[in-house]
Amino acid sequence: MTEHDVDQYRVTEAPYYRPVTDEVDLYEAAYQARMPVMLKGPTGCGKSRFVEYMAWKLGRPLVTVACNEDMTAADLVGRYLLDANGTRWQDGPLTTAARIGAICYLDEVVEARQDTTVVIHPLTDHRRTLPLEKKGELVHAHSDFHLVISYNPGYQSLMKDLKQSTKQRFGALDFDYPEAAAEAEIVAHESGVDSDVADKLVQIAHRARNLKGHGLDEGISTRLLVYAGNLIAKGIEPRSACTMSLVRPLTDDPDMRETLDQAVATYF
Ligand code: ADP
Repeated sequence: MTEHDVDQYRVTEAPYYRPVTDEVDLYEAAYQARMPVMLKGPTGCGKSRFVEYMAWKLGRPLVTVACNEDMTAADLVGRYLLDANGTRWQDGPLTTAARIGAICYLDEVVEARQDTTVVIHPLTDHRRTLPLEKKGELVHAHSDFHLVISYNPGYQSLMKDLKQSTKQRFGALDFDYPEAAAEAEIVAHESGVDSDVADKLVQIAHRARNLKGHGLDEGISTRLLVYAGNLIAKGIEPRSACTMSLVRPLTDDPDMRETLDQAVATYF
């Protein structure tokens, strides 16, 4: 077995996470039951931060994998590498997490091909095992191991959705942008702007979110609001800060940009 430096996966400082409803209690109970968890919600609404916070709270190391469509099962599980002494097995992140008893967070798992996704199946049921077929080893997951996946239902198409046989192995928590007061609190805390500025940023986001499906694929995320706050806190004029972090990243459509710029101008 490969040696693992567990410390590199530890969350040593308490991440700032502002609970939205009862997600912390629910996750804790799911963890105690070792029930795999799926976090559903738009990008930038706090899913990754939540997992970091839970890993810290539960005192578990955290292994995060950003999934993409080119990812193969070997990228998750591991492969043989060639080095000066011949071949050497290297565990992939999922195998590492299963061995060390980490929380394994597969971010945007729907991006991965289905033949990649199925490798997680035996880890999610009573077996809690991971077969390393190329190596001829069956890894029994550490008793503390926990699997969490995220996905954004907004991007989902018929071609790109999790199979029912995958979905139905998880308990799910719905995530969304927090309600206005909570979101403003988060933006103020994360960026250092005062609550008046944070409130305005959130109101701009609410306007943009109403345009989702009417020319915008996604609304302005909490993450982008924090970006805008960061620039403002650095002394950038609020309109320029909003253009750079709230309008430009979101759309290339000139009319939509103008609509958003006008929303910004209403507040700053
Ligand atoms: P996701 O994983 O959903 O794409 P993140 O967890 O990376 O999004 O969230 C983006 C940013 O939004 C975080 O870095 C953090 O600054 C902020 N954020 C969102 N929700 C919360 C929350 N409930 N508590 C603290 N910070 C939050």
